[in-house]
Amino acid sequence: MADPSIFAEGFKTDPYWWDLAPPDDEGDAPPPERADVVIVGSGYTGLSAALELARGGVDVVVLEAFRFGEGASTRSGGMVSGGVNVGKGGDIEKLYGADRVGAMIEEAAESYSHFEQIIERENIDCQYRRSGRFVGAHTPSAYAAMAARVETLNAQASAGASLVPKSRQREQLGSDFYHGGMIVERAGGVHPSLYHQGLRRACRAAGVKLSAHTKVEGVEGTAGDLTVRTSRGVVRAREVVLGTNGYTGKATPWHQRRVVPVGSYIIATEPLGEERVRELFPTMRVMADTKRVLFYFRPSPDGTRVVFGGRASFRTKSALETAPVLYDYMLGVFPELRGVKITHGWTGNVAFTFDRVPHMGDKDGVHYALGCNGSGVVMMSHLGHRTALKILGKTNRASAFDGLPFETRPLYYGHPWFLPTVGAWYKLRDWIDRRMV
Ligand SMILES: Cc1cc2nc3c(=O)[nH]c(=O)nc-3n(C[C@H](O)[C@H](O)[C@H](O)COP(=O)(O)OP(=O)(O)OC[C@H]3O[C@@H](n4cnc5c(N)ncnc54)[C@H](O)[C@@H]3O)c2cc1C
Repeated sequence: MADPSIFAEGFKTDPYWWDLAPPDDEGDAPPPERADVVIVGSGYTGLSAALELARGGVDVVVLEAFRFGEGASTRSGGMVSGGVNVGKGGDIEKLYGADRVGAMIEEAAESYSHFEQIIERENIDCQYRRSGRFVGAHTPSAYAAMAARVETLNAQASAGASLVPKSRQREQLGSDFYHGGMIVERAGGVHPSLYHQGLRRACRAAGVKLSAHTKVEGVEGTAGDLTVRTSRGVVRAREVVLGTNGYTGKATPWHQRRVVPVGSYIIATEPLGEERVRELFPTMRVMADTKRVLFYFRPSPDGTRVVFGGRASFRTKSALETAPVLYDYMLGVFPELRGVKITHGWTGNVAFTFDRVPHMGDKDGVHYALGCNGSGVVMMSHLGHRTALKILGKTNRASAFDGLPFETRPLYYGHPWFLPTVGAWYKLRDWIDRRMV
């Protein structure tokens, strides 16, 4: 039973970000009978693709099952970077070779510049700050592994990475929880739902048609002549783009078998005051760590609260059930926050792939950009954009993420029955690692 004293009066299970910029259905219209391109999902992937297509003169409609942006794109931690997370946790060089992996990291690094350009070009006021990120090492050996990566990250992703030994950690983080860490200068924090709101506005202005509360139930036909069945009627289209990431369902069973939806959870504290927050985050950077089951946390963009996220559960649990778990995690890092109340606790789905790499491609005429593997603010915006360029025939070279073998596993049909076991094993290994120090 959760300790009720941790919940502030009026505690919400909606994202803290929605206080300022909730998802909406502004501009919603019934889907047209025909469109050049139908986009399924109104997250960063869908809207980035739609914006580029509409600007390229294409008649495009976005179909969203709920309100616009109701998926992960308005729920994230808003931590952004380019290239440092590609293939994290997997051995992708074995699968794809050093050259292809190098190309992926380079492209991911470019995607960060693209993200910054979009904010500037579309004049999106989303409290973005290139604050840099501090990645805490959960053990001395994780710190040593980091040291071995710094040079590569700088060479391939221009990450601006440098090591911080434990003796100097307090300059970055008001905590002794980690064994030193790494600064990544080319990283920062954004208000995720203000960014999404800005993309919505840009799409509307560019003439993108938008249908909210329109669930796609199936896609039939062949490339060039597709029929999209929805809860609000049928749309005929030349091309379809799937941007459903952690919410990919049975409407597209082939894709559903290739992404593993995983819940991620976040809490936000009550306002603590700028001075107290600065004691915890002396450089006001965003934070992550090296655990298999990682913590990610940051000051709120206005510098008054702590926003703390992690995989609090590998079973499907409500935000109310997981908030106390996250609260305990937070106290592990910042014991002095005991007694502070939390005002928001929420959840959303990310999508993992079996090779830990994001994928774009097409299957039977359906383009897809799926599998953020936990980090998609920048990457999924990028892959949506690249998918649009591909449809417009505007690319000189294929994306390094395009056309990779997109694998599934026997007995996997979209319901990740193995997650509780895998999650428990990861947590146990993290726990053992820390006890062995
Ligand atoms: C709690 C949390 C914290 C995160 N933190 C970070 C972070 O700090 N940094 C980072 O880079 N990334 C983070 N992420 C990941 C990031 O939010 C996602 O990678 C990104 O938002 C994915 O965008 P998307 O457009 O691909 O998918 P989504 O934003 O999830 O959009 C998919 C949309 O498709 C719709 N849809 C699904 N099926 C259908 C259908 N049949 N018909 C119509 N519509 C459908 C859904 O309703 C949904 O709106 C986090 C995610 C979560 C959940």
